[in-house]
Amino acid sequence: MKLHDLEFELFIPAAGIHEKIQQLAAQIQQDYNGKTPLFLPILNGSFVFAADLIRLIQLPCRVSFVKHSSYHGTISSGKLKTLIGLSESLFNQDIIIVEDIMDTGLTLSKVVEELRSLGTRSVEIVTLIRKEAARKHAVQPRYVGFDIQDEFVAGYGLDYEGFGRNLPDIYRKR
Ligand code: 5GP
Repeated sequence: MKLHDLEFELFIPAAGIHEKIQQLAAQIQQDYNGKTPLFLPILNGSFVFAADLIRLIQLPCRVSFVKHSSYHGTISSGKLKTLIGLSESLFNQDIIIVEDIMDTGLTLSKVVEELRSLGTRSVEIVTLIRKEAARKHAVQPRYVGFDIQDEFVAGYGLDYEGFGRNLPDIYRKR
């Protein structure tokens, strides 16, 4: 299968993804019983995963999509602001970051740090995919769908050069 200018092969079929998401949703529902979590899916890649995950969770919850800021300037407090799109107060909230894929873990560790500085009650991560390198990082997701080697994947929200987000399965570069 060709995406833009590279050949990809089927890696995780849609049925396997959905089975895994059911397990993740059941675990989250059990762990957050009695709570009202706020899901923060990180755009763009996690929009498909987030849509499937939250529809399997029967808890009172809210969802707010956020995006990494490409502008890494400092704000007056001196703290780096990495997230844009946060519309509600996160004070005392139980946050679940929804990520598509964790590679080095650098992005997520910055996000977690920023969210903790905003007075949140708890910050956990659910990632659909964790790459080999991420397993060595200090910040670890509480929920992981698939552990994979260091390979480039696309589909199910993940892109290659902007293409492939609409594919129902996950592919890997040949
Ligand atoms: P990290 O800071 O963990 O190294 O980077 C994570 C981000 O890199 C992900 O949110 C995603 O946007 C991008 N990324 C890392 N690996 C892949 C991959 O295999 N495929 C795609 N499409 N994006 C990736």
